[in-house]
Amino acid sequence: MTYKEYITKCKKCKSCRLRKSATQVVPGDGNPKAEIMFIGEAPGASEDKEGIPFCGAAGKFLEEMLASIDLKRENVFITNIVKCRPPGNRDPQDDEIKACKPWTNELIKIIRPKVFILLGRFAMAKFFPSFKISQVHGKAYKKWDRVFVVMYHPAVALYNGSFREVMLADMKILREILDGKQDSINVLDIPKSDIKTRLEKRREEKRKENSQIGILS
Ligand code: SF4
Repeated sequence: MTYKEYITKCKKCKSCRLRKSATQVVPGDGNPKAEIMFIGEAPGASEDKEGIPFCGAAGKFLEEMLASIDLKRENVFITNIVKCRPPGNRDPQDDEIKACKPWTNELIKIIRPKVFILLGRFAMAKFFPSFKISQVHGKAYKKWDRVFVVMYHPAVALYNGSFREVMLADMKILREILDGKQDSINVLDIPKSDIKTRLEKRREEKRKENSQIGILS
């Protein structure tokens, strides 16, 4: 599937209840050839209205975070774990995250980023379900030849100003990675016995995702 085809198909999705209350699907924004992908939680009111992720107050702070390490939105790709706004900005529920997972996975397949910035606990849980964000924010992990950096969600800084400095400091690790400083990265060991199980599980998930996206086409 091409990026353009993906956007067209994703915008038509009605796979979960979130689409009923949302104005529109917000698939993602940025450079589809980017090597860095930011994954947040869900669209908010501004994003729901404009159809662009991180275009409200949290988005402004995200742009400030990017600028602090000499990056712009055009250098990265930005999406969310769920692509429709939960009513009243509530947390996305497990079944909604599961329903939207094929869209995130397909996007990753198309963009093929080398570095993921996981903004907040929902994005972190997709890749590292056992992690606690208070313990791992600002740290980088290498898994499956990809690098993952965990950060607090930019919206946190809007509610609690003391997080601003923490998050700007956490961004520095991304600059170090981009500058080739591999020492900053924790390499996660995955036992070989786990690899086979995970590959089988992944193949099964992929079959389901393909059939779900196929049904939508
Ligand atoms: S699965 Fe994702 S894109 Fe589809 S309706 Fe639900 S939140 Fe929206």
